[in-house]
Amino acid sequence: MDISQVSALFSSIIGARNVITGAQLALRNTGYCAASYDGGVLLTPGSAQEVSEICRLAAEHGLAIVPQGGLTGLVQGTATAPGQVALSLEKMTRILEFDPMQGIVTAEAGVTLQQVIDVAEPHGLAPGIDLPSRGSCTLGGIVSTNAGGIQAIRYGMARDNILGLEAVLADGTLLDMNNTLLKNNAGYDLKQLFVGSEGTLGVITKATLRLHSRPSSVQTALIGCDSTEQLFDVLARARRAFGGNLLSFEAMWPEFFTEITTHLNNSMMSPHCGIYGVIETGQWGDAEHEGALTAFLGQCFEDDLLQDGVVAQSEAQRRTIWQLREDADLIESRSGPCLSYDVGLRLSDIPNYVERLQVRIASDCPGVTCYVFGHMGDGNLHIMAGPARDPARHAAIDGAVYGVLQQFTGTTVSAEHGIGLEKRTHLPLSRPMATLAAMRQLKTAFDPQSTLNPAKVFDQLA
Ligand SMILES: Cc1cc2nc3c(=O)[nH]c(=O)nc-3n(C[C@H](O)[C@H](O)[C@H](O)COP(=O)(O)OP(=O)(O)OC[C@H]3O[C@@H](n4cnc5c(N)ncnc54)[C@H](O)[C@@H]3O)c2cc1C
Repeated sequence: MDISQVSALFSSIIGARNVITGAQLALRNTGYCAASYDGGVLLTPGSAQEVSEICRLAAEHGLAIVPQGGLTGLVQGTATAPGQVALSLEKMTRILEFDPMQGIVTAEAGVTLQQVIDVAEPHGLAPGIDLPSRGSCTLGGIVSTNAGGIQAIRYGMARDNILGLEAVLADGTLLDMNNTLLKNNAGYDLKQLFVGSEGTLGVITKATLRLHSRPSSVQTALIGCDSTEQLFDVLARARRAFGGNLLSFEAMWPEFFTEITTHLNNSMMSPHCGIYGVIETGQWGDAEHEGALTAFLGQCFEDDLLQDGVVAQSEAQRRTIWQLREDADLIESRSGPCLSYDVGLRLSDIPNYVERLQVRIASDCPGVTCYVFGHMGDGNLHIMAGPARDPARHAAIDGAVYGVLQQFTGTTVSAEHGIGLEKRTHLPLSRPMATLAAMRQLKTAFDPQSTLNPAKVFDQLA
């Protein structure tokens, strides 16, 4: 089928204005995946019923459907190829139910995380999931990638915060797995299969998210230590001191920190520390909180664990601290295109991993700088390495990142971004053959013709 035939086919269901092709498509932002529209057709249905009709028709004609949300995914999961049709949930942005008493929100899959935050905030509630991409990423994308983020140390990942789902299967079946109860053990919890499935098992059309009480006050600090071991010591103490009130514990290695602070012309912290961290704590109710983080850090200073530290004195300062950690994209604007990784390791292996990785990159990839940062409390490191323009360099950097990772046990090639197209060949480093075979069987059971986001996560035919 050529593009005009595909357009005509789907126009009959959703109308021609919701089938975007040609020059109109070329004007669109492809997000973090340059190949998002390479298939040449984008569908923007307005309801789950329309999504169901689209999938049914696509399966009938053997056409592949690639679900898309805010296009902030970092593993090429939204890439389309000729013959594949992009399906965006961008018109499905209604909040369907908000129950502050129960602490839940049910919304269509195209709703952004920021929309959920805005609905919940006036009622003293917040979603436990928070990502720097909050303004663009959607509920469908968050569910499909099992997103983590900056508060996973406190609230877990998407999987821990999703109560119910609705999804459309490859043959058009609308699967109602919605649920608004905290406890529901009536049979298999099917929705969990779709969490983290990266659009390969079904198109998420609706989700119910659990909300949490917003802390009445939040304290945030930027800290600097001599060594990673000292930062771990601070983390261990923070866990003991604050328990469930510890909301975030993030780390930035010097190459990352220096690059970002130079770009932002920010001099709030000594540039000579061995590693930097962001620590955030919350307090619920009226209990005195103001000085708690300052006192905690004061003790860490006395015990020679800290080289430097600044506790935010205003919301503006708090935002400035988070900007240092969250504006990772600035690295590329100064250093050129980077490859991006999100590996997971046991905390105790992190110092050795980073040290060995830097040595390996220096020897195998001359001219490449490795910028390391991430969700330290979760054992999740983000690595940006660049400049990396040509395929040979890409292979060498992949070899370094994953080669060194293999020297440790209990690791993952993806702690939160997923596999997409980008990490398919490296998936066997994290999942044994029998497990991969079971994943393929599951894919075949749900999508026998492989028309839903084909070739993502793994090559089904391999
Ligand atoms: C600046 C920045 C910071 C980030 N920080 C984090 C972070 O801290 N933690 C984290 O986990 N991730 C992070 N990410 C990655 C990204 O934001 C998340 O993966 C997010 O969940 C993707 O949502 P999206 O709506 O943009 O999905 P998209 O990018 O559009 O899609 C991602 C995947 O989900 C599938 N998909 C999308 N919508 C649906 C749907 N309705 N049904 C079925 N499948 C669907 C797609 O096919 C694709 O495989 C970050 C990204 C950026 C750019």
